[in-house]
Amino acid sequence: MNAAPADQIRLLDLQAIDSRLDQLAHRRRTLPELAEIEKAGADHTALKDLVVAAQAQLSDTTREQTKAEQDVEQVRARAARNQQRMDSGTVTSPKDLENLQHEIGSLAKRQSDLEDVVLEVMERLESAQGRVTELTARLQHSEVVLKEAEERRNAAWAEIDAEVEKTTRDREAVAKVIPADLLKLYTRLREQQGGVGAARLQQRRCEGCRVEFAITDLNAIKAEPADAVVRCENCGRILVRTAESGV
Ligand SMILES: [Zn+2]
Repeated sequence: MNAAPADQIRLLDLQAIDSRLDQLAHRRRTLPELAEIEKAGADHTALKDLVVAAQAQLSDTTREQTKAEQDVEQVRARAARNQQRMDSGTVTSPKDLENLQHEIGSLAKRQSDLEDVVLEVMERLESAQGRVTELTARLQHSEVVLKEAEERRNAAWAEIDAEVEKTTRDREAVAKVIPADLLKLYTRLREQQGGVGAARLQQRRCEGCRVEFAITDLNAIKAEPADAVVRCENCGRILVRTAESGV
């Protein structure tokens, strides 16, 4: 293949632009914010689950408290009724009086036991409320952390995208003046060779694979006409000779 030396040198400009675009794409994919967002998102989801579980616990305990208070109220009402009967003087049989007295005594004991239950449930209720409050605060904080990381990611992306847009315009300007067959070869080699399709010959070295040519090989390259498209024997990339190549 043949191409004017100036077009071969343009290929190096195109290579520099393409490498820059590759770097930008890599930076876009590997922003530290992306890992931060992933972690913050996972934290946020886990906290949401914990808040739901804590709220369920709180509502169970609230129901338990209502039930315990109703139990106390029932016993208290029954004791009050008994006391009333006692005080009314309508119960006169000593046997009935004794039974009533006995029931009043056991209701008092029962009431005291149930009041202990109410206190115990109240303690658990307080701790369930505390847990909901604490987890809700942590959930809100995780939302802030997530949102903040997303904003930083969006800002970084906007900056990268603006540079990609500008660099892509530069690329179009350079690519459109390079002969189609040379551009096609470069594109194919770039795909095969990890993003680098054209490399400068610098002193005795291919800048693509860094191999140093033997003098005989270098002499063969020197002997090629200026418009010959030379390929590196080692990596196969287009080897571009420039004024600084030293050949
Ligand atoms: Zn090479």
